[in-house]
Amino acid sequence: MPAPITITRIRLPLANAYLVQGECAILVDTGAPGDANRILQALRRAGVTPADLRLILLTHGHGDHVGAANELAAASGAPLALHRADDAMTRSGRNVLGALTGLEARLITPFVDKPFPPVAASLIFDGALDLTPYGVAGRVIPTPGHTPGSISLLFDSGDAIVGDLLMGGRLGGALSASRPQLHYYVQDFAQLHASMETILAAQHRRLFVGHGGPLAADDVRQWWRSGASAQVVARCVPTRA
Ligand SMILES: [Zn+2]
Repeated sequence: MPAPITITRIRLPLANAYLVQGECAILVDTGAPGDANRILQALRRAGVTPADLRLILLTHGHGDHVGAANELAAASGAPLALHRADDAMTRSGRNVLGALTGLEARLITPFVDKPFPPVAASLIFDGALDLTPYGVAGRVIPTPGHTPGSISLLFDSGDAIVGDLLMGGRLGGALSASRPQLHYYVQDFAQLHASMETILAAQHRRLFVGHGGPLAADDVRQWWRSGASAQVVARCVPTRA
């Protein structure tokens, strides 16, 4: 029997990071630039030292998730993992946002879209990634749409971390944090639609997200089927024959 999984949400000013503990510990996302100390304090509160981390995994390449990656990789010595499709963005230190999904996105963008220290991940992967060698019973699958290199973590426990595939609540999760919402930015609506269907088909019970949350999978399914799915399809660019 694999060790049960504990997911500790690390609430940061702009985004969530997560400490995931099974037989060993991994860190998922690293917040915005300047968040390293907040994350190190959260690890300490959980009784985890940086050297205990087996892996630092980035759900995608945006600056509010990779901002403190360099400091945390240096402090821990852990490999820093990122999907190849977001590697160019993190190396550039500039966000690629794609389409803005509503008025709130237009209002907040000037405040959240800042350059960040370029990050060169040490473990670049293309497809899925098994987490058992890192002491966590689960796997990573690509769930592109928000960005081309967005990934989700699916744990055998029934929980999942889906990054910015969707988000919880308004104002980055400050209000109604458990209510599913489209993220502010989508690079590819057709990919996002397929990724949402993949996640819902995986039948996990609880979805942890990059902003706000966590979300009950039943609420997400209901939200998706009762209009959000159609809204995303309406934004899909038809493919030409
Ligand atoms: Zn993002």
